[in-house]
Amino acid sequence: MTSRLKNGRFVKKRVGDKINNALAGMSDAKKLKTEITNKETDRDEIPDENGIVTWKVIAKNLKCCSCRSLLDLEKLQNFKTEGLHSHFKIKCDSCETLNMVNTGVKNNAVSEINSSVVLGAIHSGVGNTSLNKILACANLPQMRSQQYKKYESIVGKAIESEARDSCKRAASEERELVIKNVKKLCDTL
Ligand SMILES: [Zn+2]
Repeated sequence: MTSRLKNGRFVKKRVGDKINNALAGMSDAKKLKTEITNKETDRDEIPDENGIVTWKVIAKNLKCCSCRSLLDLEKLQNFKTEGLHSHFKIKCDSCETLNMVNTGVKNNAVSEINSSVVLGAIHSGVGNTSLNKILACANLPQMRSQQYKKYESIVGKAIESEARDSCKRAASEERELVIKNVKKLCDTL
């Protein structure tokens, strides 16, 4: 086997395999990109893929904002995903009001589930590509590069602020400890 490794034909085969693997990888990446782009467009039917919902939010949002009748999920329109957050519209069967339904909490254009999943990726030491691989295997919507960067910046600022507070707390605790020890020292003298 070892002598065969030095054989020109065998080396060529390895090079050929490498090229084929690289091409297959590029093709997969291309497919992934196309899939993400397709999933961003509006759809008027229940999607095939899985999704993450905040139960309390969806339970509240599946009631008509005008007459409180239950909304029929199978009649959704304009289904759209922004990373793992989804929103769509449903026309009420009773009063015909068009209701906007969010699947999770969103404040000032910042979705809780997207912040959480990017924080999880940062904690695990993985990036956008690895996160998308996990999401793809779970048949969940993936995060576009721009979305990931937006949440990475938001989460990064929150981590920095927490680290600063933690340092301040530690410094303050240390100061209190020193004062306490000095008092103890003075008492013993
Ligand atoms: Zn209604």
